Amino acid sequence: MPSMSPPDKYLYIVSSPHGGSTLLSLVLGNHPQAANLGEVAFIPKLLALGELCTCGEPLSACPHWGETFALLAARTGIDMRAAPYDLYLGEALKGKDGSGLIDHAQQTQWRYLLGKLRGALDTATLMATPRWPGMRLTMLPSVRKGSRNTLALFEAAAQAHGSALIIDASKSPRKAPHLYLHNPEQVRILHLVRDARGVVSSRKRYMRVERAAERWNHYHTLSRRLLDRWVAPEHRLRLRYEDFVADPAASLRSVFAWLDMPYDPACLQFSDDITVHSAGGNPARFDLAGGIRPEDDRWKTTLSPEDLHIVDEQAGSTMRDFGYV
Ligand SMILES: [Zn+2]
Repeated sequence: MPSMSPPDKYLYIVSSPHGGSTLLSLVLGNHPQAANLGEVAFIPKLLALGELCTCGEPLSACPHWGETFALLAARTGIDMRAAPYDLYLGEALKGKDGSGLIDHAQQTQWRYLLGKLRGALDTATLMATPRWPGMRLTMLPSVRKGSRNTLALFEAAAQAHGSALIIDASKSPRKAPHLYLHNPEQVRILHLVRDARGVVSSRKRYMRVERAAERWNHYHTLSRRLLDRWVAPEHRLRLRYEDFVADPAASLRSVFAWLDMPYDPACLQFSDDITVHSAGGNPARFDLAGGIRPEDDRWKTTLSPEDLHIVDEQAGSTMRDFGYV
C-alpha cells in the first residue's frame, strides 16, 4: 500500500492591522515545505499598480510568481498579469484613515460604497444564517466567487512551488469562514491577537486613539464570533503575538503540530541572502537576520494615562478575555 501523505494545507491568518501578521507569515513561510503568499487579497491591486514583489521584481515579472499565474490562467482562463482585477478575489478595500496604498482608478467612491454594503450584508448573513448543510446556497454570489478564486490561487501556488503549506496573511474576519466552508479539509484559520495597547501605539501615528481602539475591538469581536460559529475548534488556533515573539520556537512547534506538519528549525534561520517572494507587506521593516525581538513595551511611554483610559473603555473587556489585563 502506498502511504498517503496528508493533503496540502492552506493557512489563512486573521489579525488586526499592526497585529504582527507580516512577521508571523514570513517566519512560517520560511519553512522548507511552505510558501508565504503575503496578502493575497491585494494581489490584483499590486499587479495593477506595478508594485514590487518582496524580491524586488515587479510582481507581474517575478519568475517565482510566474508559474503560479500561468497555472491559474490555464485553470480559470484569466491571466492576472494581463488583467489583474478580472479574477475576483473578494473585496479588498482600503479605508481612507488607514496607511495603505489605494488604487483610485479601481477603488472609486462607488465601488467603495458597494464594497462596504456587500461587507455589511455578508456579516449579517454570517451572523444570522442557521448552521444547516445547504447554507452556502444563501451566500452572496460575489462572496462565493471570491472564495472559489482564492482557493484556485492557493492550489496553483501549492502546485507551482511543490509546497505542502500555503500562507495567506490577508487578515479578513469574513473571508476566513468562507474559505473554510468551501474547503474544511485543507483550510486552517490562525487568529493572531496582539495587545490593544501595542496596536494603538503603532496606529496612533495616523489615527485617533479612540478610533484605533474601537477598530481593534470591533475586529477581534467580529473575528471571534465568526470563527466560533463557522470553523471547527480543531481547525482554528488563537495565537498571542507576545507569546510568539517571546519564544518563537515553542510557538512554531505548536502551530506546526496543529497543522499536522513537522516543525523545521529553518523557520527561524534568516540569512542575508534569502530571497522572499510575498505580495505586499514590507519585509524590509524586519531585520530578521538578527533574530526576532521580544515585544517591547513602547506603549508605556507613547500612550498617556488618558489614552490608556480610552483604550480600556473601548477594548478592556476583549483584552481581559485574551489575558492581557
Ligand atoms: Zn519575487
